[in-house]
Amino acid sequence: MALCGTTAANVTKMMAAYNGGSSAVAAHHPHHHHHQLQHLPPPHMHHHHHHQQQHTHHLQQLDIEPDRPIGYGAFGVVWSVTDPRDGKRVALKKMPNVFQNLVSCKRVFRELKMLCFFKHENVLSALDILQPPHIDYFEEIYVVTELMQSDLHKIIVSPQPLSSDHAKVFLYQILRGLKYLHSAGILHRDIKPGNLLVNSNCVLKICDFGLARVEESDESRHMTQEVVTQYYRAPEILMGSRHYSNSIDIWSVGCIFAELLGRRILFQAQSPIQQLDLITDLLGTPSMEAMRTACEGARAHILRGPHKQPSLPVLYTLSSQATHEAVHLLCRMLVFDPSKRISAKDALAHPYLDEGRLRYHTCMCKCCYTTSSGRVYTSDFEPITNTKFDDGFEKNLSSVRQVKEIIHQFILEQQKGSRVPLCINPQSAAFKSFIRKVQSAFDPPYTTIWQ
Ligand SMILES: [Zn+2]
Repeated sequence: MALCGTTAANVTKMMAAYNGGSSAVAAHHPHHHHHQLQHLPPPHMHHHHHHQQQHTHHLQQLDIEPDRPIGYGAFGVVWSVTDPRDGKRVALKKMPNVFQNLVSCKRVFRELKMLCFFKHENVLSALDILQPPHIDYFEEIYVVTELMQSDLHKIIVSPQPLSSDHAKVFLYQILRGLKYLHSAGILHRDIKPGNLLVNSNCVLKICDFGLARVEESDESRHMTQEVVTQYYRAPEILMGSRHYSNSIDIWSVGCIFAELLGRRILFQAQSPIQQLDLITDLLGTPSMEAMRTACEGARAHILRGPHKQPSLPVLYTLSSQATHEAVHLLCRMLVFDPSKRISAKDALAHPYLDEGRLRYHTCMCKCCYTTSSGRVYTSDFEPITNTKFDDGFEKNLSSVRQVKEIIHQFILEQQKGSRVPLCINPQSAAFKSFIRKVQSAFDPPYTTIWQ
């Protein structure tokens, strides 16, 4: 997995262009090297190539031949396939059990709408949705996205060295994507290394919006507890808070940042209560103010326990890459009180991320370009969206049949005027194996443990 190099000339030019930076900041980082960073290996793909036979039954002019599984998200199976229209490798995701009940219909429709809404380099979006059959036979939805070879979980547990340059450019992209999502009013709610896809050039995209939802500005409205894999779960969620904000995603990013540095999970507990205990071991006993949104049972648990002093200096022992700058930023993310936690936007202005920004826009992004006289940088390094994602469509969904019709119509509308529609070849052997795969084990929804 290659990281491209950066040059001193680029640094000055780029820092001048970045309004959060200055030439003084650039001067802190004079050692920009021309070397190529070490390749990370291809992801561990279990090589069950399903080449039992050539599946070339062309039921229709175009088909997609799923040829191998590349992953199992919380809500679907992903295969790597070849787009017959241009020969490009893409990812095909099957959304299973869509029309089982109204809840799953709504969840899938929301995810589908989001995938079609996103336009950002660090957020996975839908390239295509396969042509649905006649509504009477419409049971499954298949989404085509860009193919990403690996994810941050696979990379972190691999034996491959991860340099501080890798950590910086990964963290930069996570926050860049998150700033965009949060600007759209979307909370991801399940940010974890496995949901951060990475390609061979270290470009990173946030994926899996199965749990994402629109933020709720009315604090009296209760929000579901069905969020975030335990290790990355924010303390306010662990404490049964009925309302939370996009800062729950920043907590998860803090945990992942520490994991990138230390190469191991920061808070690896066996239960939600132990998860909270590990957090307070590091951050110390929270103030009453920081626990104001917690439920009574959780607060009582904290107050019953011993008074803990913060032990944040242990973060310096994560690795030699845990510099003052790195730990400073990390400590701004791992803040118990969600209202005091740094935002994605402010985190991006932290000097720790200057090098990641530089590397990204020098040779990884699609927003800047190179001419004969040098690199031309975009005017906005970390763009946001001016349109909020609107979930108003969910209010009037009342039956499975009705949602099915709406989704069917939505998919047909997406294809208007674009390329030749794709459909799946149901006769291919690979397809038969593909549809048999069901969702793998995933964290069961978190239920309140304090009452
Ligand atoms: Zn750029």
